[in-house]
Order: sequence, then structure tokens, then C-alpha cells
Amino acid sequence: MVPERRLREELVRFGRLCYERNLLVAMDGNLSALLEDGSILCTKAGCHKGFLTDDDLVVIDRKGRKLRGQGEPTSEMAMHLACYEERPDCRAVVHAHPPIAIAFTIANVSMARCVLPEVVLTLGTVPTVPYETTGTRKLADSLRPYVRDYDAVLMDTHGAVCLGTSVLEAFCRLEIVEHTALITKTARDLGGAKELDPAEAVRLRSMGLKRYGGPPSAVARADQPGADLPAPCLGCSGCANPHPTGVAPKADLRMARVVSQPLLASPLVEAAVAQAVMRALST
Ligand SMILES: [Zn+2]
Repeated sequence: MVPERRLREELVRFGRLCYERNLLVAMDGNLSALLEDGSILCTKAGCHKGFLTDDDLVVIDRKGRKLRGQGEPTSEMAMHLACYEERPDCRAVVHAHPPIAIAFTIANVSMARCVLPEVVLTLGTVPTVPYETTGTRKLADSLRPYVRDYDAVLMDTHGAVCLGTSVLEAFCRLEIVEHTALITKTARDLGGAKELDPAEAVRLRSMGLKRYGGPPSAVARADQPGADLPAPCLGCSGCANPHPTGVAPKADLRMARVVSQPLLASPLVEAAVAQAVMRALST
């Protein structure tokens, strides 16, 4: 068990890092960690994570009621409480607004894809939870089936929620989500993002769950074909977001697909480029 003093230092340090790494701005986001007695240490409402200090931390009970500290926990703490309730292995939660990953949800481009081998190995894929109003119980409840099966999830047009057995692990998962979004976006800008061979993705995920662990529900399926990868990864290259066990995919998830068509493959874009070149040559 990590003592409270050390967890306080970690939340302050990783909160500042979130700001320095452009994973959130202004008063965005919140971080929390589980204390030895089962209560939760978390950032308070309305504090700037770039200037986070020990005074910005409060202790709440498992119902969200404040026990110690100055200020109040944010309404987004309901999301954190849902994570701890659904995942007994979870010791820390980081919620932030990573800009490129959020842009993927706005553009309806799924991040539940097997693109980078090391991400498939250590994190699997990243599903997107359908839109719900921020700070509501409905949003927190909508997260539950997803965090049960995944360590990092995106909330449509909002942000990321990452779970870990430590603050460092939750923060690393957040960094990986945004880094993957940046690499995928860059590849798409260059003409298209290819996916891993499905058989290789399946092999990597099984190996990763056994070697590095993950959500208990996924680890339990490590020897099953595909483990926790979205089913389409087993055989086709057009996968939509995965949906947690027992939850039917919603229409807005089915349309969240990667369009891997190169930019210049569009006849309209080609025509526009050709016209621009002709104009430039004629002046
Ligand atoms: Zn938020």
C-alpha cells in the first residue's frame, strides 16, 4: 500500500505533467487515487492542474462526500467512483482532455483499431463511450460497462478516462492514448493509416495480457482467440468500436470508423488541387 503522503506527491506531480504535456488546459480534468482505508484522494473543483499543490487535494468517501481538505470535489468525481466500483484492481484514475484523441471522437474516427504493435501489447484498443452531459450521473453510469473491460476509454466529444494500479500507470495510459492519436493522425495526413495484420494483433494482445496484465475480464480471456480485441479485428479490416460484453453497439459507435482513403484519392480534392496548380502556373 502506498502511504497517503506519497500519493499526494504523485497526484500533484502527474497533475502538473498532464498540463505540461498538453493533455488538459485551464481547470480541465481531475485525478484520484485510492487510500489504504478505502477512501479516495482527489483533486478539488476548479483548480488549475498546471499549478497544482497539496492544498488542491481533498479526501472523499465512496459516495463522493468530502471527508477532509479545503474546497469541494468536482462533479466529475462520479466517473472516478464508478471506476473504483467496477474495477477492484483499480488504484488510480486520471481524467483529462487530450486534444487529438478528442478530435478523433468529434470526427467519428475510431481509436478501437490495432495500429501500433506496442499499444496492442500493453493497452489493447480504446473504445469510445457515447455522448452524455459532463458531470452527470448518466455519464458516470455509461462508463461502467466500458471501464469494466478496458483500461483507457474515450468519452465522445469530451475526454479520456484512464485507470491504473498506480497513478503512474493511469498517467502512462493517458499518454499512450494521445500519442497513438497523434501517430495515427499523422499517418492519415500522409495518406492513410494501415492496420496490423489481424493474426498478428491477436497474437500480440494475448501475449500482452499474459505478460503485462490488464482488466481482469480481459486477462481471463487471454487464451481465447482475440481476447478483448473488437471482434472485427479477428477477420476484417473495417472494425468499428468494440462494445463491452452484453452491451449492444449503438448507431453512433457503428459509424465511428477510420476512413483510410488517401486524401488525394478523392476526385473532388484532386480536381481542386489540379485547378490550384493551373492557377499558379498561369500567373
Ligand atoms: Zn472532463
